[in-house]
Amino acid sequence: MDRKHTRTVKIGDRVIGGGNPILIQSMCNTKTENAADTIAQIHRLEQAGCEIIRVAVPTMEAAKALAEIKKQIHIPLVADIHFDYRLAIAAIENGADKIRINPGNIGESSRVKAVVDKAREYGIPIRVGVNSGSLEKDILAKYGGVTAEGIVESALQKTALIESMGYDNLVISIKSSDVLMCVRAHEIISEKTDHPLHVGITEAGTLTSGNIKSSVGLGIILHEGIGDTIRVSLTGDPVEEVKTAKLILRTLGLRKGGIEVVSCPTCGRTRIDLIGLANKVETMVAEFDSLDVKVAVMGCVVNGPGEAKEADIGIAGGVGEGLLIKKGEIVKKLPEEELLPALKAELSAMAEGH
Ligand code: SF4
Repeated sequence: MDRKHTRTVKIGDRVIGGGNPILIQSMCNTKTENAADTIAQIHRLEQAGCEIIRVAVPTMEAAKALAEIKKQIHIPLVADIHFDYRLAIAAIENGADKIRINPGNIGESSRVKAVVDKAREYGIPIRVGVNSGSLEKDILAKYGGVTAEGIVESALQKTALIESMGYDNLVISIKSSDVLMCVRAHEIISEKTDHPLHVGITEAGTLTSGNIKSSVGLGIILHEGIGDTIRVSLTGDPVEEVKTAKLILRTLGLRKGGIEVVSCPTCGRTRIDLIGLANKVETMVAEFDSLDVKVAVMGCVVNGPGEAKEADIGIAGGVGEGLLIKKGEIVKKLPEEELLPALKAELSAMAEGH
């Protein structure tokens, strides 16, 4: 896939843009003031594959907590600031690797400049974030409401404001909960700027609707070669956001490694609890992230092996017993309860030989 050219930007020890791998971001839903809770959640997110983490900084206490949080985590830390420029400055002083602001809600340009000067002093990038819900009145009037063109114009105006202050260490994010509007806005902005883009569908919803909206929206945008970092927004545990983001990148061939689990949809021939088994397999394989293999979980011993041909390894369940399969060939017949341990043993052997 041809990726759109963007400039490189350094966030902590990671580099985005310029064709570098698209990084997965998430956002904590703990109170940032509670450093211990926030650190624990970030550790879980790191484990799941999160590569950049954002936290809300609504108070000076939260800004100060960043220093402790930063010491104990292993991925770049982004501070999310609304309204108060002093919090942005304090966040930078306490070690934020990037800050996310909407200059439109920071207020007069002298305040924006104070933030920009501090970011320059510490050499950290600023993410200019614009949501469809916070468009300026003049833009809404010009375009007759919220439109993709309006979102882009708002974001580029703010980017230009910061550039006019002599700073271009920037990332842009434009978000809308309207998936197709969001796609259109990204198509337009990617033609108009070469700043790296952080891509996400905002207020996507609970697990099902959020996953679907994000997969469709991010899927189209990424497939067009747009995007340098992504976030899946879900109302729920942010670990789920990271899992979905990984799967989206892998599905598009933008990320290698990790185990892909495929399972049959079940039908009238299914004689085992395939849904339960597939879920157990999905949880079990998470520990084999170094492997790049496809695992099939099939519901019957008659068609299962054939249908699992494209998988490297798989299991197929029958009545009280099942099969271990490699590339569609039957390797062993096993009692049902031994299928999962046998699959795990095979993956462990693969991981050791890796
Ligand atoms: S693998 Fe067997 S159980 Fe699963 S859908 Fe195909 S025929 Fe049905």
